[in-house]
Amino acid sequence: MRVSGRADGYDPATNVLEEVKTFRGSLTAIAPNHSALHWAQLKVYGWLMCQSRALPHITLSLVYFDVVDQTEHPMNEDWSAADLQVFFDALCARFLVWAQSEQGHRRIRDAALQALEFPQLPFRPGQRDLAGGVYKACVQSRTLLVQAPTGIGKTIGTMFPALRAMPERGIDKLFFLTAKTPGRGVALEALHTVRGAHRGLALRVLELVAKDKSCEHKDKACHGQPCPLAQGFYDRLPQARRSAVQRGWLDQQSLRTVALEHAVCPYYLGHEMVRWADVVVGDYNYYFDRSAMLYGLTQLNGWRVSVLVDEAHNLYSRACSMYSADLSRAETAAVRAELPGVLRRPADEVLNQWDVLVMEVQRSEPVQAWSLLKEPPEAWLRSLQRFNSAVGEYLNDHAADAPGAWLPFFFKTLAFATLAEGFGEHSLCEFNLATRTVTGTASARASQFELLADGDESAMGAW
Ligand code: SF4
Repeated sequence: MRVSGRADGYDPATNVLEEVKTFRGSLTAIAPNHSALHWAQLKVYGWLMCQSRALPHITLSLVYFDVVDQTEHPMNEDWSAADLQVFFDALCARFLVWAQSEQGHRRIRDAALQALEFPQLPFRPGQRDLAGGVYKACVQSRTLLVQAPTGIGKTIGTMFPALRAMPERGIDKLFFLTAKTPGRGVALEALHTVRGAHRGLALRVLELVAKDKSCEHKDKACHGQPCPLAQGFYDRLPQARRSAVQRGWLDQQSLRTVALEHAVCPYYLGHEMVRWADVVVGDYNYYFDRSAMLYGLTQLNGWRVSVLVDEAHNLYSRACSMYSADLSRAETAAVRAELPGVLRRPADEVLNQWDVLVMEVQRSEPVQAWSLLKEPPEAWLRSLQRFNSAVGEYLNDHAADAPGAWLPFFFKTLAFATLAEGFGEHSLCEFNLATRTVTGTASARASQFELLADGDESAMGAW
């Protein structure tokens, strides 16, 4: 096990090691669990520093930096190298137990997948060609677009070879992505069939469900003060995680049962289990949208993944909506009345900029009811960004309040501003004079598809 890190600063003259964390609002509002995490990080750096420089002791300085008034709030603690080592070794021991059990699971899983037999023999007409094409695409890391008639058994005909190819290519996870909820059910059914035909198959399956469908306390703000399933979440998570991996089959119902047994949030337990699942079944957006969790974790952890996209013809329209955002003056004006007083001024600025924009368009010859702008209007966008910052600060200071009805509007303005940040040649910005609506779209880059990947059929194995 190798542990490395980079602290923010070290002064050899005073033997002080610094770690800086930024915050907004009140210092006392920093949650104790966040603070504990910051100290744990610093203590690990402290031991690494003592070990690398043979220091008998060190002063650890956790510096909270207020980004609004630019002030530093250092908290210092003196530590001996021996005590830091005890802390460090205890952390590593806990991690190693888990990591070794994960390695063991992976060995058993891969051996089982290598011996997997197609569970619904005989193949239906065309199904073996389909399965062979998918297998070869997976082992060759190629993209494959498949069109097959209804009734051929597409789901199991693609799921099975993708599973079978996992040990061949050292694939960590398989993501099965669907456009609609029934698609998830069909995928789970296929996985159930595979598991049913191979009793005791060590394959962890996770179904990802949207927050509004898995939240147990929809009337509460989603954090540790009001929601009992968020409070102490990380204290109970290790036990919940152990129960979840033992269960292996984590569809919505099963995950909810485990979560409630351990009094943790089912939605966030699902997010956690993505790291430990072998197959994840969920909506397209988890892999393809602007803040896609599965894609982000894959990049972050360097996972090797296979991605099966069910009913891929839906991806075009879904991608358009994922990479588009629109805002209208009317909805901004309507939301303004619901905003807390402190946010009304930034909202007024946005509305004023909207009027400037309308006047500019009306002055142009001929007046265009619909126009394509070269880029999002600069002054209007700046006012939108100021509005977003003001809302961010407000939410930070009022974390315990129940969410206002205007919050979805903030998500829209945030989405627009984020999209605008990546505006480029691949993007469009439209303005509709009648509805005073600005729409931004970043068109997705075309992927390369092939009808069938060719290669060595013998690699497919006996099945
Ligand atoms: S923590 Fe979970 S249960 Fe609690 S409000 Fe958030 S999503 Fe709902």
